[in-house]
Amino acid sequence: MTGCAGFIGSHLTEELLSQEFKVIGVDNLNPYYDPKKKENNLNEIKKHENSKNFTFINGSLNDQNILEKLPRDVKYVFHLAAKAGVRNSIKNPVIYVENNVLVTAKLLERYKNVDKFVFASSSSVYGELEESELPVKETHELMPISPYALSKKQCEELCFLFSKLYGTKMTCLRYFTVYGPRQRPDEAFTKFLYNFSENKPITIYGDGMQTRDFTYVKDIVNGTILAAKYGKGIYNLGGGNRVTVNHVVDTMKKVTGIELKIENIEKQIGDVSHTGADITKARDELGYVPKTTLEEGIKKHFEWVLEQKSD
Ligand code: NAD
Repeated sequence: MTGCAGFIGSHLTEELLSQEFKVIGVDNLNPYYDPKKKENNLNEIKKHENSKNFTFINGSLNDQNILEKLPRDVKYVFHLAAKAGVRNSIKNPVIYVENNVLVTAKLLERYKNVDKFVFASSSSVYGELEESELPVKETHELMPISPYALSKKQCEELCFLFSKLYGTKMTCLRYFTVYGPRQRPDEAFTKFLYNFSENKPITIYGDGMQTRDFTYVKDIVNGTILAAKYGKGIYNLGGGNRVTVNHVVDTMKKVTGIELKIENIEKQIGDVSHTGADITKARDELGYVPKTTLEEGIKKHFEWVLEQKSD
């Protein structure tokens, strides 16, 4: 598992441990956001009842010495390590090629014969979609509008190339805006919920009428494990509901019982207006059914924010 100390990777590690898997996790705790948060995630993993089955390797997958430390005889590779962040990628495009594309090529080269190479892709590969094109199917044309999204498209292409050339068994999962406890601090849910906890106004990029298919982290983790077992090719993993950012804020007000001032500022370049997943393929082939409602998910995410503040 790469990126095991991150938001989704740490939840996936815990679930794999619960399912009695042995997990070798790699992460370089890079400072894209506060590495202490990643250390906290690792500490949570260490509290798991099966933590004896977890081995952590601290280092970058771009470092040949670290790659050499990774055992070849593993069943599944879950490749979640990546430089994330659409907006940051507009400012620093080159890092996304080095860190995302190059690392994926190196890992595929090392693990071309595993039972399944699972790659964490993103809904951003679709680019700007008209509302009439939603929910989007996996077969839709890809037109990335940020270096981050382009890097994910190129990684998917590498997975397909390895599958064609060497018969690598792989699956690429297009995650749709994931939220829940441990979400990265640069993402909207975490930023908003911290503001709710501090009674500070919320800043929304644009008019808040942009829509997203928000997916609770436990649902993403379940879909990812199902894809390792049964997946072949590409799957959209979404939450099953597309809502506006304004609706999210209204739900946060309802869940927290707090009223906040909203400020709207200019939409950011690279941000797509709408996302919405057609999850028929994941449902039919993997048995993927997202179960967490927005209200339940926000409640759990807010409880986590409050815990962080009391620590
Ligand atoms: P995250 O930043 O919390 O986790 C990624 C982890 O990878 C970090 O802990 C980081 O230190 C590590 N990492 C990065 N480069 C590395 C390298 N070269 N060597 C070793 N470790 C490295 O991000 P996340 O939100 O948990 O996302 C996990 C994956 O899912 C990423 O690939 C991301 O692009 C993808 N994804 C996330 C979302 C979302 O909504 N969070 C949506 C679509 C796709």
